[in-house]
Amino acid sequence: MKQRNQQLTAPQRITDVKPKIAVAMGDGIGPEIMKATLRILDQAGAQFDPEFIELGEQVYLAGNSAGINDESWDAISNAGIIFKAPITTPQGKGFKSLNVTLRKSLGLYANVRPVQSLHPFVATKHPDMDVVIIRENEEDLYAGIEHRQTQDVVQCLKLITRPGCERIIHYAFEYARAYGRKKVTCMIKDNIMKLTDGLFHEVFKEVAEIYPEIEAESQIIDIGSARLANRPQDYDVIVTSNLYGDIISDIAAEIAGSVGMAGSANIGRNVAMFEAIHGSAPDIAGLGVANPSGLLNAATMMLAHIGQKETADKIRNAWLYTLEQGLHTADIYQEGVSKMKLSTDDFAEAVIQHLGQKPEKLSGSGFTSGVGSIQTIDYVRTIQHKELVGVDVFLDWDGPSPQELGDALNELGAFNLKLKMITNRGVKVYPKGKKETYCTDHWRCRFVSVDADIEAKVPDYRPIDFDQVISLLHKLHMEQFDVIKTENLYTFDGKRGFSLGQGE
Ligand code: NAD
Repeated sequence: MKQRNQQLTAPQRITDVKPKIAVAMGDGIGPEIMKATLRILDQAGAQFDPEFIELGEQVYLAGNSAGINDESWDAISNAGIIFKAPITTPQGKGFKSLNVTLRKSLGLYANVRPVQSLHPFVATKHPDMDVVIIRENEEDLYAGIEHRQTQDVVQCLKLITRPGCERIIHYAFEYARAYGRKKVTCMIKDNIMKLTDGLFHEVFKEVAEIYPEIEAESQIIDIGSARLANRPQDYDVIVTSNLYGDIISDIAAEIAGSVGMAGSANIGRNVAMFEAIHGSAPDIAGLGVANPSGLLNAATMMLAHIGQKETADKIRNAWLYTLEQGLHTADIYQEGVSKMKLSTDDFAEAVIQHLGQKPEKLSGSGFTSGVGSIQTIDYVRTIQHKELVGVDVFLDWDGPSPQELGDALNELGAFNLKLKMITNRGVKVYPKGKKETYCTDHWRCRFVSVDADIEAKVPDYRPIDFDQVISLLHKLHMEQFDVIKTENLYTFDGKRGFSLGQGE
């Protein structure tokens, strides 16, 4: 496992110079909730120097399809922190999502979403929920590499990398340590995706050993998300890959009853971005009734991130106390529970008046309950012996039976390669497939060395030369087969780097 880097995820600027933060006022309700939030931060004594940047609707409508101009990019790089109110993406005009642009361009690899229920002040069936979901933000199926290969079949490439896994899992344990959390749960589906999710799980086990003081557990994502929905109080920090994290973070926010109140952080190596999870709410923009809590919660995460944990706790405790007093904005107002329905500004004023108070029923803010700061790691690639031992050739073929395809391929004379099997949608259909298996026009044909002992219990693959693959492809082309793609089969230090077909 890699050396911990002494460098902090964000420069810890406890100096006389106030840290710069690029602040985007946003669209719709954005300016209202941002002004209210900045007032609370100011009154609480938060130390930073805001640099206001333009991004969002006006920039899009001025003809910039990314929604952000060069000056704003420079300000973000210079500050290293963005505090962003929600923005409006104009619909149906081919504009790119600014959030995706920011996340990918700035390498914001970790999405951090704390979800806490605020029972009985905000309605929820789960009064004791207090979970932080840490979602990998750059990889997985969200790399967006998709292809249509035949009449019947499209594919999406799931990319999981060791540096990506190490970074996010390490971040999750560091987060737990820094904020006094006791347990990290990894959610994967490695009973099916043994290589991709298997790598995530393997790295989780490696990293967990560095943090013996933090409990580590792993769950298969389907049962894990069902349990999260039913007994969220059993979870503390959850770390998972991009797609699963996208789904379970919304489940968690929804069951806590606080979608409109949650903040989130997107953490990168050099830049971090903090925002509410809700949108720009154009339906209530300008009415002065929006709830600033989501953005305020994002602000407290930002203060903790730049080392101002005490101020973060002070603000969050005042906010919790205000909610306990029944002082609520319209969106969370409940007859019999709420005492006053407040405007955005009046709610902010109430929080300011309560700075220094602690909640009496809700659990208090815990930014200062952990130790130290979050540290990053440097990835070091370990070089392994990589050997080519075969090739999967994918064919577009609409012939009637796998047997016929297998016979034709066996007759090719395949340059010291032999056909090991054919699968259709991952299921072995040759040799000895089941007649009930439904076959599409997309066939994966696995060729290995003629010397390989493929009947052995643990097949003994033998090295092949890439020239054999090229010759095989040429021959297939000459024989009118429609080759749509190939995947080389490798071993790494003798360990198989490819999955077996179902039934192989
Ligand atoms: P939304 O979250 O803006 O609104 C959904 C509902 O929740 C609305 O009824 C709204 O009034 C209410 N709501 C949201 N935030 C509230 C608050 N703070 N206080 C009180 N009520 C609140 O979602 P939407 O309507 O689907 O999207 C509106 C716009 O926001 C779209 O242009 C969308 O692209 C954008 N959006 C931006 C972000 C972002 O910038 N991070 C995120 C999501 C959506």
